[in-house]
Amino acid sequence: NSARYLANQVATESNARTYPRRLPVAVAAAYGPYLEDVDGNVFIDFLTGAGALPIGHSHPYVVEAVERQLRTHVHGLDLPTEIRWQFVERHRELLPERMRNRMKIHFCGPTGANAVEAAMKLCKAHTGRSTIVSFQGGFHGSTHGAMAVSGLVAPKEAVPGQLGGVHFFPYPYCLRCPLGLNPRSCETNCATLLRTSLHNDYGGVPRPAAIILELVQGEGGAVPATTSFVRTVAETAKELDIPLVVDEVQTGYGRTGTWWAFEQYDIEPDVILMSKAAGGIGLPVAAMMYDRRLDTWASGTHIGTFRGHQLAFAASVATLEVMRREDVLANVARQSRSALAELERIAVRHPSVLEVRGLGLMLGLEIGDPATGAPDGDRAARIQAEALRRGLIVEVGGHRSAVVRLLPPLNVTHTVVSAALRVLDEAIAEAEV
Ligand code: PMP
Repeated sequence: NSARYLANQVATESNARTYPRRLPVAVAAAYGPYLEDVDGNVFIDFLTGAGALPIGHSHPYVVEAVERQLRTHVHGLDLPTEIRWQFVERHRELLPERMRNRMKIHFCGPTGANAVEAAMKLCKAHTGRSTIVSFQGGFHGSTHGAMAVSGLVAPKEAVPGQLGGVHFFPYPYCLRCPLGLNPRSCETNCATLLRTSLHNDYGGVPRPAAIILELVQGEGGAVPATTSFVRTVAETAKELDIPLVVDEVQTGYGRTGTWWAFEQYDIEPDVILMSKAAGGIGLPVAAMMYDRRLDTWASGTHIGTFRGHQLAFAASVATLEVMRREDVLANVARQSRSALAELERIAVRHPSVLEVRGLGLMLGLEIGDPATGAPDGDRAARIQAEALRRGLIVEVGGHRSAVVRLLPPLNVTHTVVSAALRVLDEAIAEAEV
C-alpha cells in the first residue's frame, strides 16, 4: 500500500520531493518515538520531523492543549492573546537569567527560513550595512534569501543567480579541514582567518550587517563548532559591533543538552533564531529573540498572515511544561553519553564509520572509505535503506550526503536507543558486504 501512495505522489507532486525518495513510507499514524505506515509496519523514528518533535509524536497532554486552543480561537494576527503571552513568558524563562530583560521577541512566520529572513533584515536595517557573513557547510533554509546565506552548495547549484552580498568563511569541520591543514592543528585556524579578514580593511570583506552561525551544523552533517572558534567569532563580532545571529532552529529547545546550544559556548548572541521544536508536536512557528538595542527597524519591515500561530503557541507551552516536568534536559545528557559510547563501539567494528560526532541528541556518523577517507554517500544511503528495512528511520545529510544522522526525540528511553543502535549496527554491517 505504501507503494501506491508513493506512486501517486510521483504522478501528482513536484520533482522537488526529497524524503519520500529515500524513505518510501506512507505514514498512517505516529506516537512517541514510533511511526506506523499504511501497511501496519512500525518504525522507530530517529528523524522526528527533522528535529521538530522534542517529545516525539502526538503527546496526549499536548494534543489536548491544542484541541482546547482550537475550540477557543485560532487566528489572532498580531493582536495580543493569553496563549501568545504565555509563549513569550515561557521563552524568556528559557534564556539565561542575565539575558532575559535584554531580549525582545519577534514572530517571523511559520518556518525556520522566515526567521532567517527576518534576522537578516533586522540587522541590515539597524546597522545600515548591506552584507552578511556566513559559514561553509551551513544550512539556513530554502527561501531565496535563506538559501543565499546557506553554505551547502548542492541545493544552490540548481538555481542560477543566487542573491549576493554574502561572504562565506570556513567552519571548523576538522575531519575535512576546510583550509587543507592537518586537522590536529586546525583548532584556531578558521577563527583566525575570520578575525583577521574582518579586522583588516584590505581584506576585501566589508564590515557586515550580521554574522550568522550554527553552533552545530545540522544539515551540514552534525558538526559541532569548536569552543575556541565560537568564542573568537563572538569576540570579533563584539569588537566590530557586528550583530551575532545564532541559528538555533535545529539546536534549540534542549536538542544539545541545554535549552540553547550557545549556553555551552559561554557566549551571548544578539539574535537567536528558533523554529522546528518551537511548535512542540510539529506545529509550524518561527521566531527570533534579539537584543532590544537592535529594535530600530520600522513597523511593517517583517510581517505575514501566519506569523505567530495560536495552535503552535498552545503546543509549545504544553510541550515545555512536559519537558520541565520530566527533566528532559537530564535525559538528553544521559542518553547522549550512552549513545555516543555505543556509536564509538560500532565505529570500531565498522571501519567505514570514519567519525562519530554530535552534541546532545544531535548525532552523526561520517561514512567513508577507510583507506582514502573519501566520503561515501552511496554507502550512507544503503545504511539508511537497510535501517529502514529493519524498522529504523534515520536521516542522511552533510558533505556528499555521507553522514548518517540521528535526531531521536529528547525524551527517548534507553531501551529505544539500544534497540535503534542494534538495528543501525546491523544495517552498517549489511551495507559493508
Ligand atoms: N536553519 C537551520 C539550522 C535548519 O536546520 C533549518 C531546517 N533544516 C532551517 C534553518 C530552515 O527551516 P525550515 O525548513 O523550517 O524553513
